[in-house]
Amino acid sequence: MTDAVHMSSAAPVSPEELAPLESPSPAEETPTITFAEIGLPAPVVAALAKNGITVPSPIQAMSVPDAIAGRNVLGRAQTGSGKTLAFGLPMLARLAQHEDRPAAKRPRALVLVPTRELAIQVVDSLYPYASSVGVRVLAAVGGMPFTKQVEQLRRGVDILVATPGRLGDHLRQGTCILDQVEITALDEADQMADMGFLPEVRSILGETRPDGQRLLFSATLDREVQSLVRQFLADHVTHSTEDGKASVDTMEHYVLLVDRGQKDVVLAEIGARDGRTIMFARTKLGCEGITDRLRAVGIPAESLHGGKAQNQRTRVLERFKSGRTPVLVATDVAARGIHVDGIDLVVHVDPPADHKDYLHRAGRTARAGEKGTVVAIVLPNQRRLVRKLTGMAGVDATAVNVAPGSEELATITGAKAPSGEPVREQHFKSDRFGDRPRREGGYQGSRPRREGGGGYQGSRPRTEGGYQGNRSEGGYQGSRPRTEGGYQGSRPRTEGGYQGNRSEGGYQGERKYN
Ligand code: AMP
Repeated sequence: MTDAVHMSSAAPVSPEELAPLESPSPAEETPTITFAEIGLPAPVVAALAKNGITVPSPIQAMSVPDAIAGRNVLGRAQTGSGKTLAFGLPMLARLAQHEDRPAAKRPRALVLVPTRELAIQVVDSLYPYASSVGVRVLAAVGGMPFTKQVEQLRRGVDILVATPGRLGDHLRQGTCILDQVEITALDEADQMADMGFLPEVRSILGETRPDGQRLLFSATLDREVQSLVRQFLADHVTHSTEDGKASVDTMEHYVLLVDRGQKDVVLAEIGARDGRTIMFARTKLGCEGITDRLRAVGIPAESLHGGKAQNQRTRVLERFKSGRTPVLVATDVAARGIHVDGIDLVVHVDPPADHKDYLHRAGRTARAGEKGTVVAIVLPNQRRLVRKLTGMAGVDATAVNVAPGSEELATITGAKAPSGEPVREQHFKSDRFGDRPRREGGYQGSRPRREGGGGYQGSRPRTEGGYQGNRSEGGYQGSRPRTEGGYQGSRPRTEGGYQGNRSEGGYQGERKYN
């Protein structure tokens, strides 16, 4: 109880807590450099923008400036983090400075990768940006005609992307010479080690210019990789996606895979949880719609967006802080300046615009060492997009299939059945309830969330309060057309009361993104 009392005492919202809409508070805004500021040639920046790449991912923001400055870089980053451009863009910046063509057979830059597929992917990724500054990129991998590669090497190549095996063949035959290589990248060094390529890699690196720059990227740094680093990356700087904000270790990230028709019901159950929840939507209208649907089933939700006057927004935030409004539905811009402690769940109702917004949203929780959970509600057609966003953000998100009433949903978010009784506007306006949160089981401060107490109770008969099924007015009905009162999740109703739909659509395995 002391927790509840403590949390319900509404401190007034200070000006810092409510930053003006269009200018996020400086403390909140991660200092992000743009690709132009990093020192990339203008045509490369323009070509990136044309492909929608405007904000460097964390590994790029960390590594590219050092690599452009000529330093050896050891990058700990996985596929999906943007590592290809992290080593590729500095190469382009440097190679674009040459006015003459590369000499026959003598590439100026080398990218070593473990597999053919990766080599082709790297060439495809770099090609649009390389061609914007006249830099020639070639893949030299097995499974492609050797003689054709010989001819292309003879005509001069700036960046050679190769597997150690095929490059070894070219070196032995004298069809490629590495004495002009000024910058070498090793991509997925750990995989190359696992595949037994390190002796070959060592001998290849030994043929590049001794004063050459080296960039090594690897998801893990086991002993073999470390020995490579010691031998070839003198005075290197290390950057890791884990250094980023995303890796606050008290924050857990989930991708909740839901069917389109169940999204509203899932949101309602999440909204009915105990604690402070912030939900993010892309647009003002989206926020209003979600808020209305939540209120209709008994969840005191309010929206925060640029369409509201400053004084309205101040009051919304005060009620959120006091616990009167347990669920805030916000747009990205409106939520930037918010500093409210005790938000233990962030919900991406719509996917964020980019990885930076993902991190901004996530940053509303797990503040000051508290625990926090971040969930993205993902429809089948959004999976790829969200996978890319979490990858870029350097986040290890666990993907779980959830459905209304599913145990996983309850365990991860604390979801439970909403009361079903629509929330009246009066709830937000009147002071007659004092500052005490009106809902029973409102915010409970630092109570551990996962001890099972507050979770979903499936079809267990409810003994007190809450939703009772066959009320005559206004009950929550999930997303089904109404036939008679009562929340029914998305399952045909057989008897009164909340029934979720535990039996279908439950947990279907868990997998890691990235
Ligand atoms: P990678 O980790 O290099 O395999 O990159 C993963 C994907 O993210 C690729 O499709 C890239 O084109 C894309 N990508 C790389 N950097 C960015 C960025 N800064 N913003 C958006 N997308 C990016």
